[in-house]
Amino acid sequence: MSKKYKRILVANRGDSAVRVIRACKEMGIETISIYSTSDRDLLHTRLADISVCVGNAKSKDSYLNAYNILAVATKYNVDAIHPGIGFFSENPEFARLCEQSNIDYIGTDSSIIELMANKMNAKKVARECGIPIIDECNMEVSTIDEYYENIQKIGFPLILKAANGGGGKGIRVVYNEDELRHSFELCIKETERSFGKGNLLIEKYIASAKHVEVQVLADKYGNVIHLGDRECSIQRNNQKLIEEARCNTISNELRNKLYQDAVNLCRYIGYTGVGTVEYLVTDSGSYYFIEMNTRLQVEHTITELITGIDIVKNQIMISQGEPLQLQQEDIHFRGYAIQCRILAEYYNNGNIVPDYGKIFIFNMPGGFGVRVDTSYEVFNPVTTYYDSLLCKISCSGQNKVEAVNRMLRSLEEMQIDGIKTNKDLLMNILRDSRFLNGNYTTEFFEKNFA
Ligand code: ADP
Ligand code: ADP
Ligand code: MG
Repeated sequence: MSKKYKRILVANRGDSAVRVIRACKEMGIETISIYSTSDRDLLHTRLADISVCVGNAKSKDSYLNAYNILAVATKYNVDAIHPGIGFFSENPEFARLCEQSNIDYIGTDSSIIELMANKMNAKKVARECGIPIIDECNMEVSTIDEYYENIQKIGFPLILKAANGGGGKGIRVVYNEDELRHSFELCIKETERSFGKGNLLIEKYIASAKHVEVQVLADKYGNVIHLGDRECSIQRNNQKLIEEARCNTISNELRNKLYQDAVNLCRYIGYTGVGTVEYLVTDSGSYYFIEMNTRLQVEHTITELITGIDIVKNQIMISQGEPLQLQQEDIHFRGYAIQCRILAEYYNNGNIVPDYGKIFIFNMPGGFGVRVDTSYEVFNPVTTYYDSLLCKISCSGQNKVEAVNRMLRSLEEMQIDGIKTNKDLLMNILRDSRFLNGNYTTEFFEKNFA
């Protein structure tokens, strides 16, 4: 039942496209990359065997242009499409279109993507598996009036979330009744702009929690394993900024519960491929499932560093129908790893301002224990059409102190000119004693740096 792909189309841009192309090359698989008119010179167009322009800079004309992408895939007779991270990576309609075109979509089945893409459905499934979820959440509303009726039950503070959201977009915390109507309207607008669908989910806001997530691998024969956890509490606008593997402030007992629940959830829904189960964990040791990402994640790199396992190759092998070659007993964690997201943005009076233009210097760090993932090079343009991620730097070490010191010297070495970045901010966080001691929650950035 297993097959070998000869050629894969990578339906993405930036570091995630480069990551997938690299895995394919090492596996002897030919690659087709796609690009928009503004990305003509990016690395992902050069590393692929063939590169094809699929439209204008606007995502909906290019990286979200299913018709053009499938036309290229068909013309070049590819066996499979890898959706990368973002864009079509959690899109059941696109996965279905691939299936209908007789092309493998590298991800789980479209029906499972659809089920888990909606945070409310995902929570129902988690509840069925006996995983703790955040209370009084079982409603998805589209008007403030529907919303008002149930609000008293939840109480403040509460959080509004785009039911089909991602990347931290369409999320707002509401602290009291006065803010309610205004926050609701802003949140609905952002949700419609980002995801098209306007439904919101309401939950109790869990203050003082850490974001801890579990990486899973599942083949098509019911074998499910986990590759440990990642702590991603350093966030800005509910999107991760610094990630660590593994979280070193939770007990082994709690850790094992998170792992077991993640594996059980995958078994329960028949999940295949790579995925991440996300939780909020409180001081008192309570934990709650928040969502599942049915795709590769930005921070998979640090799990690769501490396990030595190539997650993307495994994803492709699973899609080819190969049984997992790893068992849980084969997974060992070595040392500590940390990733920083270098973004094209700067901070002005507590506001985050996106920057764009042409890169004039782009010197990346190197040396022992340092990994760089990027698709940019000197003289490339940076536009505001896409995610602001310029590059990811991941550092490993024997322990957190060594990994953090390595990251600090890497950020010092890194030189980017022409585009303003969040480098100074990242270094300030890394030098903060609370960060080093693990003494922080998802509110850390907003309370101390925003
Ligand atoms: P991760 O969950 O891998 O840590 P992010 O949440 O930062 O990463 O998302 C990575 C990229 O994917 C961002 O550009 C983000 O906007 C995009 N993205 C994430 N989830 C979705 C989604 N459900 N729909 C569309 N884009 C998404
Ligand atoms: P996305 O799909 O955008 O990643 P998530 O549901 O994963 O959305 O939430 C993103 C982040 O928002 C979380 O990591 C956490 O910091 C915050 N968050 C989400 N839900 C809650 C909640 N109920 N209470 C407190 N913080 C939350
Ligand atoms: Mg999330």
